[in-house]
Amino acid sequence: MDRLCGAGHYDYRQRSYLIFRWILHKRITYDLYDVIIVGGGVAGLAGAMTAGRLGLRVLLLEKTVFGGSVAVLETIYEYPGLEKIGGWELTQTMVKQARNSGCLLFDSIEVTGLQMVEDSHFESHGGDKFRASSVLVSTGGQPRQLGLKDEARFAKQGIHTCAQCAGARYKGREIVIAGNGSFAVRASQHLVELGCRVFFITGDEKIFGDANLIKKLLHHKKFHFMGGCHVTKLFGDKYLQEIEVTDLASGDLEKLEVAAVFVYRNIVPDSRILAARKDAKGFLLVDENLMTSLPGVFAAGRVVHDDLPLQVLVGDGSRASLSAAAWLQSDAS
Ligand SMILES: Cc1cc2nc3c(=O)[nH]c(=O)nc-3n(C[C@H](O)[C@H](O)[C@H](O)COP(=O)(O)OP(=O)(O)OC[C@H]3O[C@@H](n4cnc5c(N)ncnc54)[C@H](O)[C@@H]3O)c2cc1C
Repeated sequence: MDRLCGAGHYDYRQRSYLIFRWILHKRITYDLYDVIIVGGGVAGLAGAMTAGRLGLRVLLLEKTVFGGSVAVLETIYEYPGLEKIGGWELTQTMVKQARNSGCLLFDSIEVTGLQMVEDSHFESHGGDKFRASSVLVSTGGQPRQLGLKDEARFAKQGIHTCAQCAGARYKGREIVIAGNGSFAVRASQHLVELGCRVFFITGDEKIFGDANLIKKLLHHKKFHFMGGCHVTKLFGDKYLQEIEVTDLASGDLEKLEVAAVFVYRNIVPDSRILAARKDAKGFLLVDENLMTSLPGVFAAGRVVHDDLPLQVLVGDGSRASLSAAAWLQSDAS
């Protein structure tokens, strides 16, 4: 009871909320759902909206906060129909839409494993067991690190993975983008707009991403492309101060004084909960209906593909739910 009473004050609203949540929790672990969606990023939320509209009984379980990696992005550019929208606004609208379509969404629940039980129903474990006739895995992934000594020590003290979240504190300073791809390009644009001098360091010989943006960046006086190079050492006391860059062809070393390195090396997919077929990097392998190698288990979003536009991942979530609905009606289920 102490936990429910803050510093001697009886908080009735909090207490009622916790009791309500406890009853709901007991209820959801008892019911059998048509689809359990694991992961409440954009792919999972789109999947929930579609499955809900099809009249399926849907339970979505999210480990942390609904919205996934998009929720923390200050601005999403060029989403179809919207030139600009805040990541939080976009994802919280999707949460509302998923709820309006009749889905049950639960946050702060981590699914730790999925298991098929005798009658071809699945159980997902997250402390409790949840039962469903099919599953959609949309667990996304974590940014891939550089793999350098001291990288963990400088985390958030000069080493970052989101320019839109941490860029503002480095206004006008020397910054490195380490990696490549459309999000690295978008991050570079954000940083040059903040007056930063950006060194774009990649092992590739060219930049990949939005062709128009790349053209603009290559003409920007504060943008420097360093292709065929890797960041190989980090230096500094409490904060990152300097890096070593190695030219991969010649082996030449160069030191750069920089305030921060933003790492854009794609992601490590969060696919551990599923014992299905994966590629060498851990991305789930799916067929043309987005079904994994386990019958009735579908996957969508970044746990399947790296570096695809947001609208494709959202479409993927919806498509996986359509496939799950068709599968539930088929003899295979
Ligand atoms: C640094 C960075 C910058 C980016 N910048 C842009 C940009 O500017 N524009 C753009 O369009 N895209 C950007 N992206 C990409 C965008 O974030 C992804 O395309 C999108 O988030 C993928 O959505 P998703 O639903 O597949 O995965 P995620 O957004 O990763 O969502 C997965 C969700 O699953 C949850 N989860 C994971 N494991 C479990 C579990 N076991 N149990 C329950 N829940 C679980 C996670 O907590 C998370 O909420 C960026 C990504 C990163 C990392």
